[in-house]
Amino acid sequence: MQHPALRDFIDRHQRLFVLTGAGCSTNSGIPDYRDSDGNWKRTRPVTIQAFLGEAATRQRYWARSMVGWRRFGRAMPNGAHRALAKLEQQDRCELLLTQNVDRLHQAAGSQRVIDLHGRLDVVRCLGCGATMPREQFQGELARLNPAWLAHDAADAPDGDADLEQDFSSFVVPACEACGGMLKPDVVFFGENVPRDTVDSAQAHLEQADALLVVGSSLMVYSGFRFVRMAEQRGLPIAAVNLGRTRADDLLTLKVEDSCETALAFLL
Ligand SMILES: [Zn+2]
Repeated sequence: MQHPALRDFIDRHQRLFVLTGAGCSTNSGIPDYRDSDGNWKRTRPVTIQAFLGEAATRQRYWARSMVGWRRFGRAMPNGAHRALAKLEQQDRCELLLTQNVDRLHQAAGSQRVIDLHGRLDVVRCLGCGATMPREQFQGELARLNPAWLAHDAADAPDGDADLEQDFSSFVVPACEACGGMLKPDVVFFGENVPRDTVDSAQAHLEQADALLVVGSSLMVYSGFRFVRMAEQRGLPIAAVNLGRTRADDLLTLKVEDSCETALAFLL
């Protein structure tokens, strides 16, 4: 479907601050967490407290991640990512702030991107800070847990898979350099976004002339706060999302359609 009002909104603003969420990546085969009312439609994600506090949680996390990564790691950008990359090529995008951890905006060619919640393609040691590519870590997980490669399960959000069983035999490797605990380089639920990430995104928002939300229900405060900031600065706000958003009463324009369809005119 064509959305002339959205086209007009994008045409009228030259320095768009774009905030994206899971709805941008669903057409790339990555499921999202919430239904059209913004409610949880599946088990809630692991919290940082559980991940840090319980070895069993880490076994479960990494076993499911090993299964889920095989498809997540190969996901390709869709038309929504390409449309937003085009917007940047036209020098119309002040910043693309994404809540997604899949790096598909970068894969589509966007460069002015801040990964608000980090990136799943990197693993970080909480002891010494060393990092390694997730793909390399996948090899390590597979080497230590060969029998688990036979498992398959439906994809879940954030590279997770809906695998349920006894995880107590799963071997979770530690950092080779210091023996420290390894964690995907993402912001877990219950964890704060680093202050300098927020500050740098905010500096871009101050240069922007409008906010465009793409594929987010804005239920998570770390994203919603930028809508609040935009509102306080008097910026017009448009959103493309299938279903309700937490900011519906702040919006200048709301388009209820898939991101890929709604932004197709940019391509
Ligand atoms: Zn280490």
